Amino acid sequence: MTTASTSTPPLLPAVEQFLAAPKRLLIGGEWVDAASGKTFTSFNPSTGEPLVEVAEADSADIDRAVAAARQAYTSVWRNTPPAQRAQMLWKLADLIEQRADEFAQLEALDMGKTQRIARMADVPLVVDHFRYYAGWCTKIHGETLPAGNAAAPAQRFFTYTLREPVGVVGSIIPWNFPLLMTAWKLAPALACGNTVVLKPAEQTPLTALLIGELLVEAGFPDGVVNIVPGFGPTAGAAIVKHMGVDKVAFTGSTEVGREIVKMSAGNLKRLSLELGGKSPNIVFPDADMDAAIRGSLMAVMYNQGQVCTAGARLYVQQSVADQVTERLIESANKMRVGHALDPKTQLGPLVSTDQLKRVTGYIEAGQREGATLAAGGLMDANTAGYFVKPTVFTDVQDTMTIAREEIFGPVLAVMPFETVEEVAARANASEYGLAAGVWTRDLKTAHRLAAALQAGTVWVNCYNLFDASAPFGGYKQSGYGREFGDASLHEYTQIKSVWVDLN
Ligand code: ADP
Repeated sequence: MTTASTSTPPLLPAVEQFLAAPKRLLIGGEWVDAASGKTFTSFNPSTGEPLVEVAEADSADIDRAVAAARQAYTSVWRNTPPAQRAQMLWKLADLIEQRADEFAQLEALDMGKTQRIARMADVPLVVDHFRYYAGWCTKIHGETLPAGNAAAPAQRFFTYTLREPVGVVGSIIPWNFPLLMTAWKLAPALACGNTVVLKPAEQTPLTALLIGELLVEAGFPDGVVNIVPGFGPTAGAAIVKHMGVDKVAFTGSTEVGREIVKMSAGNLKRLSLELGGKSPNIVFPDADMDAAIRGSLMAVMYNQGQVCTAGARLYVQQSVADQVTERLIESANKMRVGHALDPKTQLGPLVSTDQLKRVTGYIEAGQREGATLAAGGLMDANTAGYFVKPTVFTDVQDTMTIAREEIFGPVLAVMPFETVEEVAARANASEYGLAAGVWTRDLKTAHRLAAALQAGTVWVNCYNLFDASAPFGGYKQSGYGREFGDASLHEYTQIKSVWVDLN
């Protein structure tokens, strides 16, 4: 039985204090109201109740933020010694770590992910990310080159490259990992010497604003980071179209990613796009079955399925398909659905009413198209908050909507397969290519599939693991560019060749 849990701990005094203070935009080191004076409401997904009012940026505010970022870039940040940038990033990591409980609770309140997971996973990953890129600041450099002049071989040149920042970066992030995405975007951009205009998602602006409060304490000069909550078609589009923005780093839906490609043409700004997914996860009979079943369930239920890498298509080899499916259903039915602050909750709410409608629509489409709803489904109509149950579909065909489209909810489609070749082809028959999972003890199968799967990340006998050092990004329509590791440095720097005639 799925049990709804309701016992919630009291709010931390620091969180109460944060929520009580006005939520403004951070522009040029000042907390300011939107030029229009407008605000919007952020809701608590566990209850559906309003949480706080937030200043709503639109194009006039984006103009101000871009001007502040440009000023900070040219006057101070690009000339700040790398070791000082490193010190500030490290200090920011320390400050976040000191307030880890506060960040975790605020994230749970604003987004609906469980406070327990936010504290265990999101916050430590954020801290790691800032520390990892603090280390890179002092190691970003050009090279000397053996270039010459073929027409005049005797002529000697000293030829080298400079690796320079891109300039002003516009970062547009989604609501599924609000704090983590803030770190993913800020850390490499700042390490490389860029300044940033960051737009959090309209559903989840709060933890980015709390980071804003820590920036000054960490020593970042005014205007190096500007934070402008607002809506996509207004604030987001204004960033993308802005002639003063040199690069846009976007994480979100493939649909909006396409829009951004079109809108960014004005000054041919650079783009990195981390978009949607419909990731295959493949279980072989020789796998450690307990780990495979537990891992495959979490691959799709983690963060209520609101993860771009969610292992939403589960392919199970025919000989173990019934056994695996039965155990998955049993485990899904046991998951506790409840308030994000309740420490016993395993599956919190979806982020918003829109998301609830979207996931509900997909569950109904699955049933309409003939799949069997083997576990979960919708909650009672009178449930407060934006909940669905951990859902498992069987009798799914590859062609069904629930097997093709990104649901972004806790909904698993289980499908049997016979051979490695067949499952590789079926796994790859998707417009997306963000991630994939393989569960087997056979090295040959694991490595053959790791090479054959068209995905930016392949997890073998694990799922949804991230580390600041491991490049992350998509194949096909899951986007382009890579975050993390040294791959990210290429996204946030540009190379200049310098030739010096030594004759
Ligand atoms: P999701 O479907 O996960 O909400 P979106 O792609 O709609 O993802 O949103 C991700 C981010 O992109 C959010 O910050 C949102 O405000 C922003 N966004 C949405 N539409 C646009 C747009 N037309 N231009 C720029 N940003 C947008």
